[in-house]
Amino acid sequence: MAGVSRLQYTTEARLVRVMCSGRVDLEFVLRAFSNGMDGVFIGGCRLNECNYITHGNYHALNMVLLCKKIMEHIGLNPERLRIEFMSSAEGIVFAEVMSEFGNKVKELGPLGKGEGIDPNELKSKLAEIRKLVPYIKVVKNEKLASHLKKPEEYDQLFTKDEIDKLFSEVISYYIDPEKCQACTTCAKRCPAAAVISAKNQIHVIDQEKCIKCGTCFEVCPPKFRAVTEIVGAPVPPPIPEEKRTIVRKSKEK
Ligand code: SF4
Ligand code: SF4
Repeated sequence: MAGVSRLQYTTEARLVRVMCSGRVDLEFVLRAFSNGMDGVFIGGCRLNECNYITHGNYHALNMVLLCKKIMEHIGLNPERLRIEFMSSAEGIVFAEVMSEFGNKVKELGPLGKGEGIDPNELKSKLAEIRKLVPYIKVVKNEKLASHLKKPEEYDQLFTKDEIDKLFSEVISYYIDPEKCQACTTCAKRCPAAAVISAKNQIHVIDQEKCIKCGTCFEVCPPKFRAVTEIVGAPVPPPIPEEKRTIVRKSKEK
């Protein structure tokens, strides 16, 4: 409506249309900041007015609340991210909010510079967090799906301590070369193709590809229990390729 009604609003904004505000992934927001955007605004339908049972706008709200805490964790001003709910007929509201947000972002200054963070440090912090997005979404799945009733509850959904802990106690998965029997179950079930697998070869997790979903930990047969969880500590280096062949007891003779 804002365009059709020829309403004026900040010219610095670039619009990206999505089918539902719930489609705006945490990764999209972090990518926008990584690409140098100084602010991100998300416009969604009014809460409780969604035509579908999914209520994607609640998901968008929760994602924003989480992202704001993550921004604080890495030293960014959370006011660079804003979500507002309005109907498509409220062009005036949209134009006003956009102009107000544009002015706010200008006041905050360029991303990182306004907060006094070194650009390279910010770049690497954002890259680290982006790698953890699938993990964050798995760990915070329940809260991301919650329906908060009142705005007063927004600040309590994710706390500073919880986010600090989230990043200090990141879980990694490691295959114990002494226990792996190359049954290939983990490789078949891994959703990220992160398990390096071959017949009669000790399996190895490619930590760069691993999204920390924990599936390999759950599916490794109890008689082997070869996958271990490592909390907040570095993962041992992978066993060298030339040492990965498993010699079965029956073939040793
Ligand atoms: S935790 Fe295991 S199953 Fe999940 S992505 Fe990593 S290697 Fe794959
Ligand atoms: S499921 Fe367990 S035993 Fe089987 S290949 Fe994976 S780590 Fe090895």
